[in-house]
Amino acid sequence: MSAEENGIAAPGTCRKTIIAIDGPAGAGKSTIARHLARHFGLLNLETGAMYRAFALKALRKEIPLDDGEALEQLARETSIRLEPGEEANRVLLDGEDVSGFIRNPAVTDAASRVSVFPAVRAWMVRLQQQVGVQGGVVMEGRDIGTVVFPHAEVKIFLDAAPEVRGQRRYEQIGQQASSPAPPPEEIVRDLRARDERDRNRADSPLKPAPDAVILDSTRMTLEQALAAAEAIVVEKLGPAKQVC
Ligand code: C5P
Repeated sequence: MSAEENGIAAPGTCRKTIIAIDGPAGAGKSTIARHLARHFGLLNLETGAMYRAFALKALRKEIPLDDGEALEQLARETSIRLEPGEEANRVLLDGEDVSGFIRNPAVTDAASRVSVFPAVRAWMVRLQQQVGVQGGVVMEGRDIGTVVFPHAEVKIFLDAAPEVRGQRRYEQIGQQASSPAPPPEEIVRDLRARDERDRNRADSPLKPAPDAVILDSTRMTLEQALAAAEAIVVEKLGPAKQVC
């Protein structure tokens, strides 16, 4: 169903919408964000890719991942650009397209370590506000509805039981990777470790914004989760407003 068919488009009354999607690793944020962006004609911005690109630079430069001052200094010398694309975002690290290098387990782990430092987060939040401020975006991450865009019109906190997230991640890796996926128990262990760090950091911990709608997809099929997310957007924006 298109935005018009949903009754939320009214030509000439376009209001630039921000949809914030937050939640733990493996909850399906990217899939849902991509779907909503396509469905409502918005840009999809994946903020995790920015933390990953910065973590990649720290790894390449062999900066200790627990050295906040060195990471802060590195941030000052780093440029990160996120470019929305049809399928996935492109992330440019100091002008280099690193989109193909940021999904491996070492970078994944490093991203969750560097993201605990307030100076790194403050810098990232500024960059994310700059790319999203025009609106017309679905932005996904951990702190979009709480910190980056606390006034976003729609906030969804997507969750699912760790075992279910681990199993989905396992199947996803199995479909994509040329080498065999690690056993599901190992994937669940890694997800839990990242969740733990994301939820317990002092600065902008992962938690639902007070006005977020919680969508728990533990017992949902993908189709059901996509439909539920669409329904939340329509419900929030109301029939008279336009998503653009
Ligand atoms: O979403 P993704 O798994 O790509 O994010 C990688 C890591 O970056 C997360 O584990 C989290 O620690 C961090 N992150 C964050 N805030 C965001 C997006 C990602 O702290 N808005």
